[in-house]
Amino acid sequence: RNLRRLIPCRHDIHRLKAPFLAIYETLIPPEEENAKQKQLLTLLEKLVSKEWPEARLHLYGSCANSFRVSKSDIDVCLAIEDPDVNKSEVLLKLADILQSDNLQNVQVNDLAFQDLCNVLTAVHALTRARVPIVKLMDPVTAISCDICINNVLAVVNTKLLWDYAQIDVRLRQLALIVKHWAKSRGVNATYQGTLSSYAYVLMCIHFLQQRRPAILPCLQGMERTYAVTVDNIECAYFDQVEKLSGFGSRNRESIAQLVWTFFNYWAYCHDYANDVISIRTGSILSKRAKDWTRRIGNDRHLICIEDPFEISHDLGRVVDKNSIRVLREEFERAAQIMQFDHDPCVTLFEPYIL
Ligand code: ATP
Ligand code: MG
Repeated sequence: RNLRRLIPCRHDIHRLKAPFLAIYETLIPPEEENAKQKQLLTLLEKLVSKEWPEARLHLYGSCANSFRVSKSDIDVCLAIEDPDVNKSEVLLKLADILQSDNLQNVQVNDLAFQDLCNVLTAVHALTRARVPIVKLMDPVTAISCDICINNVLAVVNTKLLWDYAQIDVRLRQLALIVKHWAKSRGVNATYQGTLSSYAYVLMCIHFLQQRRPAILPCLQGMERTYAVTVDNIECAYFDQVEKLSGFGSRNRESIAQLVWTFFNYWAYCHDYANDVISIRTGSILSKRAKDWTRRIGNDRHLICIEDPFEISHDLGRVVDKNSIRVLREEFERAAQIMQFDHDPCVTLFEPYIL
């Protein structure tokens, strides 16, 4: 812990509150995007219920966890209650149903069908991906919609994130700003060894649990008002979050102070060699206790973020020797900008160009 370097925050941090809030406002997606998303879901429900009357469709990921930014993809889970379901077969069938030729006769309420056709022109089934999906792509906006089968754990962790966001608005503010930073700087791509949006949101929740006074509680450490078992994993926590509004009000830190401290933490204070962040326990665990001290296969555990439900899962395991360097340099760059730059709201998000 004595690694932790505390630097006094710049004296004019209060000047930055309004511009950061203004950026947050611009990141909230416009209402038309939400409407289009609903239309797409209605259409999908109609098509799916013909073929699989018992199946349910769930939105998950950022379109249901409140951390969506404009142009985010749409994540949909098709839940089929058949333990022997052949996912590839279902996905291929689904891709076939979604080919636009089959859609000419489908009418959803009074929607102009052409609008939806746009969304559905490019359809492919990626049955060999780690999570097999059907991908729909809107060629105009490049927004894609990924449909997976029975990924119920993702639906449940989406609810957890959504519930946390109801407790204090500063979580949504911080997470949208951090996601925007990560996308601008090219450090939000798991296939390149950097972190997923989901991992960044967990980092934000953990960070707000650690503030003193705390801005967020640890919902999994409280009375269990919600419990489901998914893939043999018990997922339980306190979900009556309306009773927790005002929880963080003793802490008056503004979004500008939080962005400053967040980057300072990941640049200079986090102990990458020993620590695991865990929103499940609301604390820091040791890598030794999790047995995440050595490389096994491709999992190197160079930055450790425990999944709240699948606790053997380290969201940082995609990070390799090269990308941890890139990530840490980006955290340091952000911390320096937050401390010294005259106009951090611009510089922080300058696109990274190779
Ligand atoms: P974006 O706006 O960037 O699409 P997102 O919140 O939708 O952000 P994704 O990375 O697209 O994030 O992931 C979608 C959802 O899939 C997450 O919200 C989470 O529920 C689930 N998920 C993603 N990665 C993992 C993972 N490694 N382990 C468990 N669940 C994951
Ligand atoms: Mg997504």
